[in-house]
Amino acid sequence: MLKKFLYTLWISIFVILLLLGLKNGSFFKFLSATEDRTFDIRQSVLANSGHRHNNKDIVIIAIDDASYEYILDKYGEWPLRRDIYAKAVDYIEKTNPTSIAFDLMFVKSIKSSADADSKLIDVFKKYDNVFTAMNLDNQPEDLRVPPVLPDKLANPKPIEADDEFMEFSNCRVILDGILDATSNIGMINVARSDDGVLRSMPLFLKYQDNYYPQLGLLVATHAKKHLDIPINSSEVILNWYGPAGTFENIPLYKLLKAVENNDTSAYNFENKIVYFGATAASLFDIKTVPIDKVYPGVEVQATYVNNLLDGSIIRKAPVWVNIFTAIALALLTILAVLRLQSMPVAFGLSMTIYAVYVMFTYYAMRFNNIWLNIVAPLTFALFAFIVTVIVKYLIKSRDFDTQYKLATTDGLTELYNHRYFQEQLQNQVSHASRYESPLSLIIIDIDFFKKFNDNFGHQSGDAVLRQVAFELKKNVRSADIVCRYGGEEMSIILPNTKYEEAVNIANKLCNLVASKKCKLTNGKESNVTISLGVASYGQDGMTPKELIESADKRLYNAKENGRNRVN
Ligand code: GH3
Ligand code: MG
Ligand code: MG
Repeated sequence: MLKKFLYTLWISIFVILLLLGLKNGSFFKFLSATEDRTFDIRQSVLANSGHRHNNKDIVIIAIDDASYEYILDKYGEWPLRRDIYAKAVDYIEKTNPTSIAFDLMFVKSIKSSADADSKLIDVFKKYDNVFTAMNLDNQPEDLRVPPVLPDKLANPKPIEADDEFMEFSNCRVILDGILDATSNIGMINVARSDDGVLRSMPLFLKYQDNYYPQLGLLVATHAKKHLDIPINSSEVILNWYGPAGTFENIPLYKLLKAVENNDTSAYNFENKIVYFGATAASLFDIKTVPIDKVYPGVEVQATYVNNLLDGSIIRKAPVWVNIFTAIALALLTILAVLRLQSMPVAFGLSMTIYAVYVMFTYYAMRFNNIWLNIVAPLTFALFAFIVTVIVKYLIKSRDFDTQYKLATTDGLTELYNHRYFQEQLQNQVSHASRYESPLSLIIIDIDFFKKFNDNFGHQSGDAVLRQVAFELKKNVRSADIVCRYGGEEMSIILPNTKYEEAVNIANKLCNLVASKKCKLTNGKESNVTISLGVASYGQDGMTPKELIESADKRLYNAKENGRNRVN
C-alpha cells in the first residue's frame, strides 16, 4: 500500500515537473544547462588526464604580472610603447615565424605618441604575417558613432550557418594607420553560454551587413590553407588541451630583454605561431572556461587556433543519435525491470548500463571529439525505469488479485468457497472471543432440489442456484460473508450479530427467496424455497465446529418441520 503510494507520488512529481517544463521551457533550459555541466566535467577530466596534446608550434608571449612590473619599471608606463612591440616583431621575424598575432588592441589613445605608433604601423606594412585584433560591441550611438570598417576586412556571408551569427551594432576602431596598412585584423569577441562560461568561439561576426572573421580563424587559415571546420555553424565548440600554461609561454619581459640586448640566439621562432596576449590577472583578459574559472584570453585564442589546425573542435552528435540513445537506454531499462525478479538488482543493472553509457560518452569525446548528450537520454531512461516499475507493480498486484479471487470464490455462484468459509469462520470466532462481540452463522439448504433437478434439468438447477446466491448476497450487509458451503447448501457468517437479529435476517431471506421467481433455461419461471438453520457464538458453541454442528442441527429441524422456514 505504502509502496503503491510512493510510486504514485514519484510519477506525479515527474509529470508535474515535465508539465511545468513544457509550460515555460525552464525544464528544458535546466536539462541543457545540466548537459553543459557534464561537458565541462568531461573536458576537465580529459584536460587533466594528459591524453590531450597541444600544438608545440604555438607560442605565447605572455604579458604576465612580472612583465607588467618590468614594463612599469623600465618604461615608466602601461600600456607598453608601440615602438617596443615593433622592435619585438622585427626581432621575432628574424627567425622566420609562421605568424605573429596580437591578442591586443592598438586603439587611439591619449597616451600613444604618433612617432611610436608609426613604428608599429610600419611593421604591419613590412610583414604580411602579423595579425592584430579588434572588438565589436553594442555601445549606444550617442556615445560613439558606429564606424565604417575598410572594405578589405568585410566579407559577404561567408558560410551558410544554421544558427544566428552574433551581431553587433558598434565597434571600437584601432589606429587608422593599421587599418590602412593591413587586412590581417580579426575580431576577438567570444561566445558565452547563459551561465557565463566560454564554451565556443564564433567563426564570423556580423556588423553592418558584413561578416568579420575571428582573429584565431585568420591566424589558422594563414597557417593552413584547408581547415576542417563545419560550415553549418556560426561558431565552434572548443576542445581544451589542459589547464592554463599548457602552451609554451615566454614572459614578455624575457623577450624584451633579448630584444634590447640584441641577443639573436636567445629564441628561435621558426615555423611558430607567436601569440602576444595578457595573462596577468590585473590586465582583465580572463575568461571562465569549462576546465577553469580563470583562464587567460590569449590561451583561449591559442586553443581555438590549435583546434582549427588539428581539426579537433568538438562536434555535437546529431539529434537523431541522441534520440536513438535515449530510446535504446530506455528499452534496456524496461527489459531489466521486466525480466529481473528483484527490484534492487534491476535498479543496479540499470544504473550500471547508465554508467557504461557515461563512460562511452567520455571516450567518444576523447577519441572522436564528439559530444554525446548525457542528461536528456538518462532522464528519459530514468523516466522509463519509473514507469516500468509502476506498470510492473500494477500488473503484479492485478495478477495477485485474480489469483486471490480464484482461490477464494466459487465459480458457479461467485460466492466465497468452502475453504474461505472455514478460514473466515475461524477468524470471526477468534475475534468474537477476543472482543466478546456477538457472532452468528446461518446455514441454508434448498428444498427438494433433487426433485427440482429431475423436473427441470441440471442447467436450470445451476441457474436457480446462482439466482438464490445473488438474492442472498444482495440482501445482507456488506460485512456479512456469504459462502457456498457445498452442493446446494450455502452459509452466511454474520459478525456482530446476535441470535435474534440473525433469525430475523434468516426469516427475511427465507421469505425473499420464496417470493422470487427464478428464471429457468427454457425461458419459464419457477419458485424454490429454502430452509435455514441459525446458530450463535456463545449460546450454541464456542468453536467453528460446534457452531456448524448447531446450525446444521437446526437446519435439519427446519426440514423436519416442513421446510421453507427458519429454525
Ligand atoms: P431437501 O434438502 O429438501 O431434503 O431435499 P433435496 O432434494 O435438496 O435433498 P439433498 O439436499 O440431499 O439433495 C441435494 C441435491 O442438490 C442433489 C443434487 O442433485 C443437487 N445439487 C447439488 N449441487 C448442485 C449443483 O451444483 N447444481 C445442481 N443443478 N444441482 C446440485
Ligand atoms: Mg443438501
Ligand atoms: Mg436440499
